[in-house]
Amino acid sequence: MTRTASIAHPDEDDVALAELIDGLITDDEAIAQIEADEIVRLAAALRIAKKRAATQSVETRMREVEERSIASEIGTALRVHDRAIQNRMHAALELVEDYPATLDALAESRISARHAMVIVEEGRDLVDPDTRALYERTVLERAFLVTAPATRTFAEQVVEELHPRSITERHREAVKGRTVWMQRRGEGMSELGMIAPTVLAEGIWDRLTQQAHETKTVQVAAPEGDTEDDDAVYDQRNLDQIRADVAIDLLLTGGPTIDPTTGAITGPAGGLAAIQARASIVIPALTAAGLADRGATLDGAIPVDADTARCLLAGASSWERILTHPIHGHVLATDTYRRPANLDRYLAARDMHCRFPGCRRPARHCDRDHNRDWALGGPTDACNLACLCKRHHTLKTEKPWKPMQLRDGSIRWTSPHGRVSTDPPERYVIFRDEPDPPPGAPPF
Ligand SMILES: [Zn+2]
Repeated sequence: MTRTASIAHPDEDDVALAELIDGLITDDEAIAQIEADEIVRLAAALRIAKKRAATQSVETRMREVEERSIASEIGTALRVHDRAIQNRMHAALELVEDYPATLDALAESRISARHAMVIVEEGRDLVDPDTRALYERTVLERAFLVTAPATRTFAEQVVEELHPRSITERHREAVKGRTVWMQRRGEGMSELGMIAPTVLAEGIWDRLTQQAHETKTVQVAAPEGDTEDDDAVYDQRNLDQIRADVAIDLLLTGGPTIDPTTGAITGPAGGLAAIQARASIVIPALTAAGLADRGATLDGAIPVDADTARCLLAGASSWERILTHPIHGHVLATDTYRRPANLDRYLAARDMHCRFPGCRRPARHCDRDHNRDWALGGPTDACNLACLCKRHHTLKTEKPWKPMQLRDGSIRWTSPHGRVSTDPPERYVIFRDEPDPPPGAPPF
């Protein structure tokens, strides 16, 4: 990397800025070296997992569990989700084994870890070692000069030229990767994305755009007795907002044209169309009554605005009252607690999500697991039951991960290596200092 060039008549700020930039370059170099070390360690951890699995079992599922257990061991130590660690272990091993020049460049601080991962990710289709080496050499030269996103664009073009298969063959494969995902963005908003064949994605975009433009032409109001166009009021939403509103409307209320549950082309009343969206909202009593605006959450964790929460509450066909401890806010009971049907609802209300450290998979997608096995005398009782997602339930069953539930609802996990991490219970109440009421205000 180049040091900052000197300028003719530097003032005080120029000198400070030059030192600052030199400092950032030094930091960046140190970070690249640390990232290279981390990649080598993650790759070594995956090698150990593979070696162990190979000596223990021929079953693919068991080999996977060995990897997950090691990833969980690292994840709980670093407070990172084990799946993220597992993905990083795989990418690290690919880099170490298939892209030695890229790893060297990272260790020498000539590129960043983001550049290195771009090279690994974009080169995945090139299986022939000679082709891959040519790809690595070509893209690395560019990576020395440009940003990681620009490296990706260049790498895509290089792969296109070196690819052993035609675009038709590759599309047939790529279409299997179609998917929809959701990611939270804060402020009660989330991102919903989709990977679909380009032709269909363009079609969806075009239809939404046309519908948005049509909506914009509809006059929504005009001053009384005045029909002049100049005074007419049109939809105030911009095109982006209308596209989003139309898409939400279609997805939440429309039914699929082809419905495998009825075996025929069906109208909106068909099997799949009858499935309604589900959401689990927790609303403090004061917020539900409109006396406060805080504390409403989706699945007990994701903040939602009070208006949306009250609107859902008003339309809900049934709801559960949750009693919480007045001081620490932990769930004490649900309103109509009766075993066994309500034990399940109680657990969902108390845990809200999978209780493996770091996992946020919502309780409605989780199994109810006996912390101490029922077969070993563990009772079917809230103090011995917890929500665990499939992934972590399997991990606990297959490997010696030991949960122990404490009196306050925390679960203390002991890893196969004896490392202890504690998953605290959810709480619904947070006390904030309120400003003193003005003099003469009635006591509440
Ligand atoms: Zn989980």
